[in-house]
Amino acid sequence: MPSQGRRSQPLPKGWDRQTRPRILKRDRHVCQWPDDGNPAGICGEPANEVDHKIPAHLGGPETDDNYWALCRWHHARKTAREASAAAHARAPRARPRPPHPGLLP
Ligand SMILES: [Zn+2]
Repeated sequence: MPSQGRRSQPLPKGWDRQTRPRILKRDRHVCQWPDDGNPAGICGEPANEVDHKIPAHLGGPETDDNYWALCRWHHARKTAREASAAAHARAPRARPRPPHPGLLP
Protein backbone atom coordinates (compact mmCIF):
# COMPACT_ATOMS: atom_id res chain seq x y z
CA MET A 1 0.00 0.00 0.00
CA PRO A 2 1.29 3.48 -0.78
CA SER A 3 1.79 5.75 2.18
CA GLN A 4 -1.01 8.15 2.98
CA GLY A 5 -0.76 11.86 2.46
CA ARG A 6 1.45 11.84 -0.61
CA ARG A 7 -0.24 12.19 -3.97
CA SER A 8 1.19 9.51 -6.21
CA GLN A 9 -1.11 10.17 -9.18
CA PRO A 10 -1.20 13.32 -11.27
CA LEU A 11 -4.16 15.65 -10.75
CA PRO A 12 -7.25 14.67 -12.75
CA LYS A 13 -7.75 16.41 -16.06
CA GLY A 14 -9.25 19.83 -15.57
CA TRP A 15 -8.03 20.19 -11.97
CA ASP A 16 -5.49 22.66 -10.85
CA ARG A 17 -3.94 23.52 -7.54
CA GLN A 18 -6.90 25.72 -6.64
CA THR A 19 -9.69 23.28 -7.46
CA ARG A 20 -9.58 21.34 -4.21
CA PRO A 21 -9.41 24.30 -1.80
CA ARG A 22 -12.02 26.16 -3.88
CA ILE A 23 -14.56 23.33 -3.69
CA LEU A 24 -13.88 22.67 -0.01
CA LYS A 25 -14.44 26.36 0.71
CA ARG A 26 -17.62 26.47 -1.39
CA ASP A 27 -19.00 23.46 0.47
CA ARG A 28 -17.80 24.92 3.80
CA HIS A 29 -15.66 21.83 4.47
CA VAL A 30 -18.82 19.82 5.03
CA CYS A 31 -19.54 16.44 3.42
CA GLN A 32 -22.26 16.93 0.78
CA TRP A 33 -23.35 13.30 0.57
CA PRO A 34 -27.18 13.13 0.64
CA ASP A 35 -28.43 11.73 3.94
CA ASP A 36 -32.17 11.66 4.55
CA GLY A 37 -31.64 10.82 8.21
CA ASN A 38 -30.01 14.19 8.77
CA PRO A 39 -31.98 17.45 9.26
CA ALA A 40 -29.71 19.21 6.76
CA GLY A 41 -30.30 16.43 4.22
CA ILE A 42 -26.60 15.82 3.86
CA CYS A 43 -23.95 13.87 5.74
CA GLY A 44 -22.53 17.01 7.38
CA GLU A 45 -19.30 15.43 8.62
CA PRO A 46 -16.12 17.47 8.20
CA ALA A 47 -14.93 17.01 4.62
CA ASN A 48 -11.36 16.99 3.48
CA GLU A 49 -11.74 15.28 0.12
CA VAL A 50 -13.05 16.56 -3.20
CA ASP A 51 -14.51 14.14 -5.70
CA HIS A 52 -16.54 13.97 -8.90
CA LYS A 53 -20.28 13.55 -8.38
CA ILE A 54 -20.39 11.75 -11.71
CA PRO A 55 -17.08 10.03 -12.37
CA ALA A 56 -15.14 11.22 -15.38
CA HIS A 57 -15.24 7.77 -16.99
CA LEU A 58 -19.06 7.93 -16.89
CA GLY A 59 -19.07 11.24 -18.69
CA GLY A 60 -19.02 13.57 -15.69
CA PRO A 61 -17.87 17.03 -16.74
CA GLU A 62 -14.74 18.68 -15.35
CA THR A 63 -16.65 21.61 -13.89
CA ASP A 64 -17.23 22.86 -10.37
CA ASP A 65 -20.85 21.71 -10.64
CA ASN A 66 -19.62 18.16 -10.81
CA TYR A 67 -17.25 18.45 -7.84
CA TRP A 68 -18.27 18.14 -4.23
CA ALA A 69 -16.67 17.85 -0.84
CA LEU A 70 -16.85 14.46 0.82
CA CYS A 71 -15.73 13.10 4.16
CA ARG A 72 -13.12 10.39 4.05
CA TRP A 73 -15.67 7.68 4.78
CA HIS A 74 -18.09 8.62 2.01
CA HIS A 75 -15.29 9.09 -0.49
CA ALA A 76 -14.02 5.59 0.25
CA ARG A 77 -17.55 4.20 0.07
CA LYS A 78 -18.26 5.92 -3.25
CA THR A 79 -15.00 4.72 -4.74
CA ALA A 80 -15.73 1.14 -3.67
CA ARG A 81 -19.26 1.33 -5.06
CA GLU A 82 -18.04 2.63 -8.41
CA ALA A 83 -15.49 -0.16 -8.60
CA SER A 84 -18.19 -2.74 -7.92
CA ALA A 85 -20.54 -1.10 -10.45
CA ALA A 86 -17.80 -1.27 -13.05
CA ALA A 87 -17.32 -4.96 -12.30
CA HIS A 88 -21.07 -5.51 -12.69
CA ALA A 89 -21.08 -3.68 -16.00
CA ARG A 90 -18.44 -6.05 -17.31
CA ALA A 91 -20.27 -9.18 -16.13
CA PRO A 92 -22.75 -10.74 -18.55
CA ARG A 93 -26.41 -10.39 -17.67
CA ALA A 94 -27.20 -13.45 -15.59
CA ARG A 95 -31.00 -13.38 -15.69
CA PRO A 96 -33.33 -12.46 -18.53
CA ARG A 97 -35.62 -9.54 -17.83
CA PRO A 98 -39.08 -10.63 -16.66
CA PRO A 99 -41.91 -9.71 -19.06
CA HIS A 100 -43.63 -6.42 -18.42
CA PRO A 101 -46.71 -7.03 -16.20
CA GLY A 102 -48.85 -5.10 -18.65
CA LEU A 103 -48.08 -7.64 -21.38
CA LEU A 104 -49.31 -10.63 -19.39
CA PRO A 105 -52.82 -11.99 -20.11
ZN1 LIG B 1 -19.91 11.96 4.61
